[in-house]
Amino acid sequence: MSNPATKPGQPASHSNFIRQRIEADLASGRVKAVKTRFPPEPNGYLHLGHAKSILLNFGLAREYGGSCNLRFDDTNPEKEEQEYVDSIIDSVKWLVPEFDGKALFASDYFDFMYQCAEYLVSSGNAYVDSQSADDMKRNRGDFTHPGLDSPFRSRSPEENLSLLREMRDGKHADGAHVLRAKISMTSPNINMRDPALYRIKRATHHRTGDKWCIYPMYTYAHPIEDAVEGITHSLCTLEFEDQRPFYDWLLNKLADGGLLQHPLPQQIEFARLQSTHVMLSKRLLIKLVEDKVVDGWDDPRMPTIAGARRRGYTPEGFRRFAERIGVSKENSWIDYSVFEDCMRQHMDEVAPRRFAVLDPLKLVIENYPEGQEEMMEAPNHPKKPEMGKRTMPFSRELWIEREDYQETPEPKYFRLFPGNKVRLRFGYVIECLGYDKATDTVRAKYLPETKSGTPGADSVKVKGNIHWVSVKHAHDAGIRLYDRLFKGEKPQGQDDLNADSLRTIRAQLEPGIGTAAAGVIQFERHGYFVPDGSGFNRTVTLRDAWQ
Ligand code: ATP
Ligand code: MG
Repeated sequence: MSNPATKPGQPASHSNFIRQRIEADLASGRVKAVKTRFPPEPNGYLHLGHAKSILLNFGLAREYGGSCNLRFDDTNPEKEEQEYVDSIIDSVKWLVPEFDGKALFASDYFDFMYQCAEYLVSSGNAYVDSQSADDMKRNRGDFTHPGLDSPFRSRSPEENLSLLREMRDGKHADGAHVLRAKISMTSPNINMRDPALYRIKRATHHRTGDKWCIYPMYTYAHPIEDAVEGITHSLCTLEFEDQRPFYDWLLNKLADGGLLQHPLPQQIEFARLQSTHVMLSKRLLIKLVEDKVVDGWDDPRMPTIAGARRRGYTPEGFRRFAERIGVSKENSWIDYSVFEDCMRQHMDEVAPRRFAVLDPLKLVIENYPEGQEEMMEAPNHPKKPEMGKRTMPFSRELWIEREDYQETPEPKYFRLFPGNKVRLRFGYVIECLGYDKATDTVRAKYLPETKSGTPGADSVKVKGNIHWVSVKHAHDAGIRLYDRLFKGEKPQGQDDLNADSLRTIRAQLEPGIGTAAAGVIQFERHGYFVPDGSGFNRTVTLRDAWQ
């Protein structure tokens, strides 16, 4: 099946080098159906960079009518935990609605990987090296010097096979031997200088327990994992480009030996996501959690998918972001505001509007009868009548924002000051009578003929329009105002933390707000907020205030 958006011979507007490769493979018949994979190591929570990879892999599979696997690359027995496995499945499910929640594990292929190793040894393509780690390193050479053959390189296949089996059977100490591919110690590509395939490591694996004391190296395991699953296009980040010759060498050797079938997977590299103002490295993120700089992996300030979710960001916003940044062969930095902007745009479309007073100051309407109440009608979304309307109780005492009153107005200030008139949004025009210091209250009178939606609404022209919440009916709630965790553009550690990344306040909200939606709400004039626990998290402000 070809990309429906693409006419033959005419790349789609959203085409890129990966789509072109896939389309060429489908056109030539090299592959029948596209199969991709997302292969995280379960050693941390997923972050924005992983989101890019997830959306790319699952997105291509969907677009070309193929499929995508979630496969845990759990070949390293240390550092891997069930908590990470669970959180990763959760994050992928959230981001990709069509994902069925089924996860595969590289460790399920350990037997087959070992079988492949025996084949490589028997066919003279691998050997057991018994040099010390230091000698091995020295004899590898470097960019300007070729490597030197190990004195153990000429062992016979029989000797190698019995040594490999002894390694597997626990007859040798950790580090005593290493299984290596036999390629060339003089290759200009250092990755081809007899790379290690297996090491001895007595460690308990989170799934295979103590069954193995030898573990495959990532560079050996990964191509086999891809091939076993019938992956057609194995997408990875640019730093693996120099590994591609070994990827191909290994798979072709195993195919020659009848262990794998064609078509073999093709590795394609793309630039990793690098974003300003966040750290996208599990190692550094783990440190933030361990040092308790944040409140766990899903702290809304974390650049993790779990954090983004609690922050109120949406999968659709992530998709727009992935679409906007695209894929490229060149590493570059994306400004974090691009991410926030994608989220903001989506929320503007879907978030119902509500009133919330974040810094409350009391307003008394002196000519409004005590005990009287009336309902004001307001649309849930200014541009989407289909989202319906709501009513809000109005009474003599209201909460307004403290910044909406100035005793002595600065130039161009159109809100409340003695003698000035403003509209209470969706309510009446009021005239400010002054401020009572003793009770910290703004005094006003209302103009009864100016009620919104009535013929007299426009009889008095005003320049200011402010929101309000009835004191008697207001819903008091805690609000967490999140901001960026780091001040610097390219944080590398914890030395430029933003001291104001979390501020907690109490706010007065319009009644019934808790039932507005399970998702993000726009507090008019303030930004987007999401219910979380007993209060609300600020997702993002209405405009980029950072610059
Ligand atoms: P980290 O460096 O944060 O620990 P990693 O690359 O070690 O990340 P893996 O679990 O190995 O994490 O990554 C799983 C997949 O996600 C890989 O295919 C990897 O290429 C991809 N990936 C990781 N970080 C990024 C990124 N910043 N941009 C795009 N893809 C990424
Ligand atoms: Mg990794």
